[in-house]
Amino acid sequence: MNHFDYRNGVLHAEDVPLTLIAEQVGTPVYVYSQATLERHFQVLNEALAGTDHLICFAMKANPSLGVVATLAAMGAGADVVSEGEARIAMAAGIPAERIVFSGVGKTEEELVFALESGIGQLNLESYEELLELSHLAQRMGKTARIALRVNPDIDAGTHAKITTGLKENKFGIDWTQAHTVYKQAMRLDGIEVVGVAVHIGSQLTDLQPFQDAFLRLRDLTLMLQADGIPIQRIDLGGGLGVPYEPGVNETPPLPSEYAKVVKSCVGDLGCKLVFEPGRLLVGNAGILLTKIVRLKEGAVKSFVVVDAGMNDLMRPALYDAYHDIVPVKEPKPGAAKRAVDVVGPICESSDVFAAGRLLPMLYKGELLAFGTAGAYGASMASEYNGRPLIPEVMVKGDRFAVTRARPTYDAMIAAQKLPDWMG
Ligand SMILES: *Cc1c(COP(=O)(O)O)cnc(C)c1O
Repeated sequence: MNHFDYRNGVLHAEDVPLTLIAEQVGTPVYVYSQATLERHFQVLNEALAGTDHLICFAMKANPSLGVVATLAAMGAGADVVSEGEARIAMAAGIPAERIVFSGVGKTEEELVFALESGIGQLNLESYEELLELSHLAQRMGKTARIALRVNPDIDAGTHAKITTGLKENKFGIDWTQAHTVYKQAMRLDGIEVVGVAVHIGSQLTDLQPFQDAFLRLRDLTLMLQADGIPIQRIDLGGGLGVPYEPGVNETPPLPSEYAKVVKSCVGDLGCKLVFEPGRLLVGNAGILLTKIVRLKEGAVKSFVVVDAGMNDLMRPALYDAYHDIVPVKEPKPGAAKRAVDVVGPICESSDVFAAGRLLPMLYKGELLAFGTAGAYGASMASEYNGRPLIPEVMVKGDRFAVTRARPTYDAMIAAQKLPDWMG
């Protein structure tokens, strides 16, 4: 469910017509709906009612301050993968103790930062990292609260580039070695073992891999507890998918169905349950608004060239991802459609948002909305091809605010300077 609907023939974000945002902010632009964000958090939170839980928003899906602050106000924590994300989370009002620091390559500086700022849980991904953290904590006179991210060797059944829980992936500690590493962790100074963690991939549309992974985690937790290792937290990661393509295959399970699996697998272990959802909370809470630059008839194809590029929304180029594309001006019911390639202006053949997509007749200057662009959209954007990062807008009811302004070209250039010997 989201709050992007046609009203009086124009696509709206909540009560704001997207034509108004295009007029005042220009295109391309990301538009987020605060009511949708709040609803998604609430649905998951209610599904998990009856468990002692903490929902830590996976910041990498969308670290926009307004998005994070919305979730913070609802009681969310954050799952961060860098010092930068941790700092954004705190700036948005998330207390350090509600932050989980994940990532396979935390630097020494980042570990020091985490210890200094009192991050609630560090998810460690190797024995080497554990040793390093122990040394740093002792030197600083601090204690690190840690979980080991276990690699359960479960195929998430999702795109290869967003699968993380197979033993050949770089992530986590192999689940068969976890017990040994936990015993070592218990002997190390500066380390307090608090939990176990897992994250097997993203955009999962089937509950089975979750269940398999959670049951492995259950067995491990029982084994560790029996061995006197005080596991108090079970971190189940993120990964629950969202619908990208209306009416087609990929229908992900509902949060309530996911919660049932969670409860049946680990609900009885007396542990706090930690979740790291990213896409689930923000995916359908954002759209990318773009304008048609021109229509181009190629030798064998018809192209719709838009002003957004793969630098603004990378998912189609990176993962062959599908985004729904709809005209902001509502097409007449039964309007004729034709197959077009919707492409950006970037000088790369992969800058294609949709190939052979059936769309109504379109015209130059028309506005299009790319659906489900709230996750891994703005957060992956770059200035490739000399294009300033595009703005972000938050909508609430009939109000909207620019939360990231479009930099001027001068500002983009001023971020660099020539070496002094080049005068
Ligand atoms: C990316 C990531 C998530 C979030 O994944 P979603 O599919 O967006 O829910 C959670 N935990 C970790 C460790 C991640 O790397």
